Amino acid sequence: MAATRPRPPCTICGEPCPPFRRSYCSDACARKSRRGKKTDSQYLEGLARQMARAGARVENADLEDFARLVRAQEALDSAILRAVRGLRGNGFTWADLGEATGTTGQAAGQKWGELGFLARQVAKREASA
Ligand SMILES: [Zn+2]
Repeated sequence: MAATRPRPPCTICGEPCPPFRRSYCSDACARKSRRGKKTDSQYLEGLARQMARAGARVENADLEDFARLVRAQEALDSAILRAVRGLRGNGFTWADLGEATGTTGQAAGQKWGELGFLARQVAKREASA
């Protein structure tokens, strides 16, 4: 008699999965797993993919969508600056930030520092908003 493979437990409720399912015992558990349980890194990777797709869509769209894409970039600039300030405040060095993003600490400081291009752009936008 062939050995029956142990059924893996449902990752949501822990019940054994039926033979034709590997991760979830039911559609209800599969839906639960998809519902808002993304980690920050999954969320950010998804956002990066969405932004790339948005660029591909807008290249064939109109100027209003182009303007929306530029506003998305401005929001991203502000988010990056806020993240940089927070990370710096928590003790990360420019070298740390540079290494994480594949550049030097000096380049990171010039790009994201208080006197850098991004900070000046965001400050200018916030002043005119
Ligand atoms: Zn389940």
